[in-house]
Amino acid sequence: MTVPGLRVAVVGSGPAGLYTAEAVIRQATADGIDVAVDVLDRLPTPYGLVRYGVAPDHPSIRSIADYLKRVLEHPRVRFLGGLCFGRDVTRDTLLACYDAVVYATGAARDRRLRVPGEELPGSAAAADFVRWYCGHPDSDPAMFHLDATAVAVIGAGNVALDVARVLAKPATEFGATDMPEPVLAAFAASRVEQIHIIGRRGPAQARFTTKELRELGELPGADITVDVAQADLDGFDAEPDRRVRGNLAVISDWAGRPARGCPRRVAVRFWQRPVEILGTDRVTALRVERTRPDGSGQVTGTGEYAEFPVQLVLRSVGYESVPLPGVPFDERHAIVPNAEGRVLDTDGTPRPGEYVAGWLKRGATGVIGTNKSDAAQTVRALLADRGAGVHRADPAAPPLPDLLADRGVRPVSYQDWLGIDEREHENAAALGRGERVKLSGWDELNRASGRQGARTARSSR
Ligand code: NAP
Repeated sequence: MTVPGLRVAVVGSGPAGLYTAEAVIRQATADGIDVAVDVLDRLPTPYGLVRYGVAPDHPSIRSIADYLKRVLEHPRVRFLGGLCFGRDVTRDTLLACYDAVVYATGAARDRRLRVPGEELPGSAAAADFVRWYCGHPDSDPAMFHLDATAVAVIGAGNVALDVARVLAKPATEFGATDMPEPVLAAFAASRVEQIHIIGRRGPAQARFTTKELRELGELPGADITVDVAQADLDGFDAEPDRRVRGNLAVISDWAGRPARGCPRRVAVRFWQRPVEILGTDRVTALRVERTRPDGSGQVTGTGEYAEFPVQLVLRSVGYESVPLPGVPFDERHAIVPNAEGRVLDTDGTPRPGEYVAGWLKRGATGVIGTNKSDAAQTVRALLADRGAGVHRADPAAPPLPDLLADRGVRPVSYQDWLGIDEREHENAAALGRGERVKLSGWDELNRASGRQGARTARSSR
């Protein structure tokens, strides 16, 4: 078998990883380079946040998986799932087996709020709530019960909108989605009536995108309110950008809108910063302080406090990347230090053959499509380095799957993933629920992928 002229490993099969694989194939082929790309993932399932982050009621965003599927099915791309970086495969092994390694593991950790009461039962990261309703195998299906009648969602970004919308919708709206059965049952039993979305700055500074914001006001079973005194519509610049102008139109429409008597209510509250999550055994209220602009784009407290009785607090204040073993990490910005995707060592020099893409490269910002141009930039750097003779894989190193086989580790293949995919379609048909119902938990995934009994990410954790 001939060895390809360029062997690339991409760590992470979410949008950043798969757009990177696509860009490598496209740019290398255009340069006449014979290329092969292995895409590794810790999970036995591909697509990262498209599968385990995008809300189940957003099928058009989920359909990005159809596009990414074509990348995975490209003859020069191979999926190696169920491999945990740092345990099943190390940086050194990858650098020996491949000319270049691209880290694209996203942002797995929630940012902390750093207020008293954050650890109380009933206070959870929105990231965990999202993973739960998306059926992530690391998430216990019994993790959330939705027995709260009032919920505070802290943060004014798109994740806060997703979480608030999913809580505000009737469970019947999820019947035809891929939500796992136990999660759907929890939503059917939900007692939630009141949802507060808490923004520490004003509406002009909120991170919402307009389409997602508008959607929240169009839910049939939920009233949406914005206190006119908190909307501060004058805070919008004369010439704000398109997104902010769009948000202004939506929020102006909501401000002072009379309630229709819907079973659920969503209150969007601006200029409120959380100061404490109250409760003894579990959350009973959220204490906030009214804020005002400090003149530098941030806020300062006014000394005016309020308490909202809530039994569930979902902290939705952004995601952070986690360090990868052996790979430099900038703790302050929670990214891998890089120059246009080239991983930089602690002294600021590029590490030969190591690259980064997506949220791990730039922080948890942008929509899924942002990762396409981001990946293209990283791949341009990678190919320029190849031209300059920077890469240095060990020509005698065996292919990674052979090396893993010697250690008794069998990755999940694309065919194995198709086994899971098929089971999920069968599940939906049997339950009379849409096109797919996700399997939940490692055991179900391992059974469906035919890896029962094999060494898996879970069994060896
Ligand atoms: P985000 O957009 O960064 O929003 C985080 C929010 O939390 C901001 O309003 C921020 O306020 C607030 N915040 C941060 N620290 C806080 C604190 N200590 N106290 C109170 N509030 C605090 O993050 P995200 O919502 O997690 O979204 C992550 C990325 O995924 C974004 O790029 C988002 O657009 C994307 N996403 C897109 C979609 C979609 O397109 N449908 C869906 C979900 C996520 P400040 O602005 O004042 O810092």
